[in-house]
Amino acid sequence: MSVKGDYMGMALSIDDLDGENINYFKHCADHKFHLQKCDDCSMLRYPPTTACPFCSSANATWTAVEGKGAVYSYLEVHHAIQPAFKAKTPYMVLLVELDTQQGKPTSDDALRVAANLTLPNGEFAPADVVKQVGIGSRMRMVFSDVSDGLALPQWTIDETATQPAKPWRYPQE
Ligand SMILES: [Zn+2]
Repeated sequence: MSVKGDYMGMALSIDDLDGENINYFKHCADHKFHLQKCDDCSMLRYPPTTACPFCSSANATWTAVEGKGAVYSYLEVHHAIQPAFKAKTPYMVLLVELDTQQGKPTSDDALRVAANLTLPNGEFAPADVVKQVGIGSRMRMVFSDVSDGLALPQWTIDETATQPAKPWRYPQE
């Protein structure tokens, strides 16, 4: 069954033929982070796909993964390209490298998940919080509810983690 939702005035939908994303977001709707784990080589993968990018196997099992990691890269948006985001500026898009499966299959590889910086309740983080986050900041996953059966994974500051004294950021005002 397809999934539909309205996110800040934008229509989001996942077609019922897109089994990988239907399953991925079904777990997200329960505020759980699951990734496909290859039945043959045991590697997790992201984003959801039909076959393993490491060994081409089509057999995988949805597996609970801890949604924790560190900011690998980021961008800070001051000029919204979509009207719905105008009131949210400045906001952050974070690329977070998961602690899980870090450095595999090579030292340059990892599972990296892009999402917005939010507060623990899934709302976009305000400007004073945006200024605290940079490369190396420790994050944990939370979810923004969109509709029945659809929630978006987001990143929020992991208040239980030791944060870097000065996460790397572009020079600021
Ligand atoms: Zn595999």
